[in-house]
Amino acid sequence: MERDGLRFRSGRMCLDLTATVVGRYRADKTDQLADSDDLIRWLRAVGLPHPRGRVTDDTVAQARELREAVYRLVHPTLRHTVDPEDVAVVNTWAALPDVAPQLAGDARSSYQLAARRPVEAALSALARDAVLLLAGGILAGVRECARADCSVMFLDTSRPGQRRWCDMAACGNQAKARRHRAQLR
Ligand SMILES: [Zn+2]
Repeated sequence: MERDGLRFRSGRMCLDLTATVVGRYRADKTDQLADSDDLIRWLRAVGLPHPRGRVTDDTVAQARELREAVYRLVHPTLRHTVDPEDVAVVNTWAALPDVAPQLAGDARSSYQLAARRPVEAALSALARDAVLLLAGGILAGVRECARADCSVMFLDTSRPGQRRWCDMAACGNQAKARRHRAQLR
């Protein structure tokens, strides 16, 4: 799924965070968390708390640091070597106050209590999502898209467990079309 030009294909928000580096393996890769506007736009699109005003460059750098720590800890070929510093980054954020879910008056709907430090709460929520993914016995279901230059990771929750693409329309059909053209030649 795409929202606001951003990719939410993985089924987990901590994996969607790692997908903000577009074309990780390509020379022309782009970073969708390059500055304050980027970070706020992404937080809004993923449905996490975000501030009204700008955030500092340090805060943006911290978000990117968390992103890269999650990437290395989760990635199918990198996750076998655990860097204690990556664990520390995730744990530091996960220890901070998360977003508080609150019941609305009808007790059938809910809203998020406005966080006093919205970016902190958002990064905490992302770090906690990573903790649950890494320690929840489901890590084996995390794969990287089979399209060579895609680099988006996703959690495969399909019954046969044979999902190959981050997104059928974006990557699966493209790969199929390429195979078809190759067969015709
Ligand atoms: Zn893909």
